[in-house]
Amino acid sequence: MNSKKIRLKTAKIVLLTLVLVLVITGAVLFFLKGSSKVKVGEHNEIKTEKYFLSKIAYPITKNKTVDAMIATSIQNTKKEFYQKAKKDKPKEPYELTISYVEFKYKDIRFIEFTEYSYTGGNHYKREERSYYFNEKTQEMMQFKDFFLEGKDYLNEISNLSKEKVLQYASLKGKTFDEAWVGRGTDASEENFKHFYLHDKGLTIIFPPYKVSSWADGEVRITIPFGEINRYLKEEYRGKVEDGNERPNVTRPKIDLGYTKGKKLLAITFDDGPSQNTKHLLDELQKKNARVTFFVLGNRVSSYVDTIRREYEEGHLVASHTYSHLNLLKLPDAALEREITGSSDAIKNVLGEAPIYIRPPYGSINDRIKSQSSMYTILWNIDTQDWKNRNSDMVYQTIVNNAKDGSVVLLHDLYASSVDGALRAIDTLKEQGYAFVTIEEMRTLKGLSLDKMKSYTSFGNK
Ligand code: ZN
Repeated sequence: MNSKKIRLKTAKIVLLTLVLVLVITGAVLFFLKGSSKVKVGEHNEIKTEKYFLSKIAYPITKNKTVDAMIATSIQNTKKEFYQKAKKDKPKEPYELTISYVEFKYKDIRFIEFTEYSYTGGNHYKREERSYYFNEKTQEMMQFKDFFLEGKDYLNEISNLSKEKVLQYASLKGKTFDEAWVGRGTDASEENFKHFYLHDKGLTIIFPPYKVSSWADGEVRITIPFGEINRYLKEEYRGKVEDGNERPNVTRPKIDLGYTKGKKLLAITFDDGPSQNTKHLLDELQKKNARVTFFVLGNRVSSYVDTIRREYEEGHLVASHTYSHLNLLKLPDAALEREITGSSDAIKNVLGEAPIYIRPPYGSINDRIKSQSSMYTILWNIDTQDWKNRNSDMVYQTIVNNAKDGSVVLLHDLYASSVDGALRAIDTLKEQGYAFVTIEEMRTLKGLSLDKMKSYTSFGNK
């Protein structure tokens, strides 16, 4: 081979190598560009200064109101943080990280911001900010906008959240303080500000310290659609998996403001429902009076519509056990059946198990209380209505003995009981009484009940 040929060959190799390098570089650049591509409509900024580091990301949503709110909030946070850093001149730089996550469900965009700032001390400060809006109408949304108006969705979400937070804790092998969880999941909009809907249901975010200690971190729970569809507005309902949908019955939201300054009476009806209950419900509705029904589990399937009406009209449906036996005389297995048999029957038609029980004949002891794990409610005004079957006597007994906080025992099996009670309501209304359920009484009196006690009436705290 002469030197000319060698040079030519070398030139070819160099050229080929060059082409190869170019192709590879191009490909690498192409892929790099693809993966590091900044999301359309996002703002990113990083600052590293002597006294602080900050890393901030936020979306540009094209919704003017939302963008303005986000910008203002971030400006304020930044300003405060930078000023503090400049003033304190910390040895270890302060840190501010603002990041967000987005979710889309139907036309709704959910944006959840988390701001972490470290300005000395033991731990980061953490703030959550959430923005929700409809991309079609551009309207901003709040938690309440997803639920049916006039329905008691807040109590429902509160109960479900509490249950699921405690489940979460036990799954993680932790013990959360029940009172703390109760406060953090209490029925107030404020507790459910951070949430999003998705194809599985409603996820609620409880930031650290909301339902347990800081060390326990953030808690997220998901309520499947089957459990809340009935409270969600139609357009936000989702698919229910494994057919676990709760019955489509909802409780009304009762504004208890009207009871202010009034004496409270809890009228209760045991042993029902019966054919007299419908008339009773019609009249109670006219009189704006609510009562408590301690129903028998074995009557539920015969009176499904009546029990649903009781619930949907704001009365309290509670348990009077399954078949009205004297619980003191029952061995554990039979006792269990009397209690859960009734609770299951009620849950089947209302989607919610009762938490109040009245043992037949008022027979109760600690063994029964701990097995039922419900609140035991007795009475302090006994009308003897089952014996006298006389509406005048029923009426007189109630009117003569009524006191603020009293609990009246009646049975809706008898027309005379229903009639006497309705007349007593009219008379006592004129004497400044309001008629509430056991649960409303407990709320209005500010009492937290103990499952190991029995209650015959309710005084003020
Ligand atoms: Zn009874």
